[in-house]
Amino acid sequence: MPDKLARRLQDARRFVLTTHERPDGDAVGSEIAMALYLRGLGKEVHVLNTDPAPHTMEWLPGAELLTVFDGSMEQREAIAAADVILVLDTNAEHRLGRVGPSVRSSGAHTVMVDHHTGPETWFDSTYRRESASSTGQLVYEIICADGADRIDSAIASALYVAIMTDTGSFRFSNVTPEVHRVVADLLERGRLEPSILHAEVFDKRSPEGLRLLSRVLQTLALGHDRQVAWMVVTPRMLKETGSSIEETEGFVNWGLSIEGVRVSMLFTETERGTKVSFRSKGEWTVHRWAQALGGGGHPNASGAFVRKPLDETVERVVAQAPRYLDLEVATDDPDPVSDEDEAYLAALLNLQNREPRQ
Ligand code: 5GP
Ligand code: MN
Repeated sequence: MPDKLARRLQDARRFVLTTHERPDGDAVGSEIAMALYLRGLGKEVHVLNTDPAPHTMEWLPGAELLTVFDGSMEQREAIAAADVILVLDTNAEHRLGRVGPSVRSSGAHTVMVDHHTGPETWFDSTYRRESASSTGQLVYEIICADGADRIDSAIASALYVAIMTDTGSFRFSNVTPEVHRVVADLLERGRLEPSILHAEVFDKRSPEGLRLLSRVLQTLALGHDRQVAWMVVTPRMLKETGSSIEETEGFVNWGLSIEGVRVSMLFTETERGTKVSFRSKGEWTVHRWAQALGGGGHPNASGAFVRKPLDETVERVVAQAPRYLDLEVATDDPDPVSDEDEAYLAALLNLQNREPRQ
């Protein structure tokens, strides 16, 4: 199967690569590796994304190949001229953002390379496996089907970062012996230094981001016999700490670090509604829950966007927990950590109805 795809890539000349909105390390690492590999074969490659790469990925060799889709004539021509469009790390048109409609309606052969559940069916071909740790792992397989010696230091760095970020630094339940074999191969071929790569990605927090984390942690609440944890982020917290929404990356995991918690959620208030991030442990899967809200993702890491205000979304989604989790003890009423936390959360939930305090 990767052989067939590798041959198709070798036979084509012009490529467009794209990925989901607000791309993460797996998305941009997979794109960079694929773009460098195809360039090495002498192909014409354009990488067109709806959003820029996170600044924690900008140092990656090859990151300069990533461009933001602005609908310019040049970019539309690249899409129109493409023989193959590779859609990496997502499987749905709407997740592509602005670039989505142009990709779907193009005359190119569209290929999905992805590991998410619930794929759409409009792609001309797919290389997907839900059990894969990351799209980076799948890109590794595709390149190796051509020849593992194609993996140079830059490609190895990009794939290492893709796999590292999607596995929570090799500790999530998607980590298998095979993932470690792939990673060992990348370290050897690229002569990589794992500690340096890890620091490049994760030791990039700003003081503002840390202050935001402290505000968000104060909203922590627990419910359903303390098995479900949730926190909220409001535009006001961003404003008052001087931080950007990008800084909330990874915050949701803090809830899971509490003993006994099986599901952690982060609710982010926006003008158009509320973004919900789900994380869970092992067999307590959350993707169906996210799907029921119109979103999707992986069994243990999913998300959805609910077009409702923050407080209504929190209340409704938290109340749904027993339906999607086989909770041994399920209570209807959320059971916050303390009265003080409850008061704090209630205050936060009412923020959008109040005049901002100057
Ligand atoms: P995050 O919570 O980090 O935004 O997303 C976690 C996972 O859920 C990601 O793998 C992402 O693909 C998926 N996801 C997040 N938001 C959405 C959404 O609105 N729709 C779908 N289908 N998947 C989402
Ligand atoms: Mn991924």
